[in-house]
Amino acid sequence: MTFNKDDENYIYGVVGLNVKKYRKEKKLTQAKLAEKINYSLSFVSGLESKKHQSFSLGALYRISLILGVDMYKFFIDEDNKNLETNNIDNNNFKKYKCNRCDYETEIPYDLVELIKTANKVGNQLNSEPIFKCKHCDGYIVPTNNNL
Ligand SMILES: [Zn+2]
Repeated sequence: MTFNKDDENYIYGVVGLNVKKYRKEKKLTQAKLAEKINYSLSFVSGLESKKHQSFSLGALYRISLILGVDMYKFFIDEDNKNLETNNIDNNNFKKYKCNRCDYETEIPYDLVELIKTANKVGNQLNSEPIFKCKHCDGYIVPTNNNL
């Protein structure tokens, strides 16, 4: 499958492929996933297909909760090794901790920087990425003992 990186279809294609991958890892059919997120089967099959179908961030968030996958993972292009996201240094992590429960996680530092850059492009200046905790209603925020 080829997507033109200069076109917005590209990111929908990457997300679609990743939803398909993680759905299969969870051994869910498209119909089952559709049922769980309360969307139609044609929505899920369209999202995973090669043709462009837009979807809301909210819909993707519901999918991430059902599949138990952090949102950012849907945006990583596994097939395109030339993409910046695939040049991340996996030995250099930034520690994050939930501000409610004791859940701790580590996110590659380069990826955090990439998200920061993306946020700047979206005019959210200087926003440190935060992530919704998958175990409670809290947020995953950077811990103090970071680089
Ligand atoms: Zn939590």
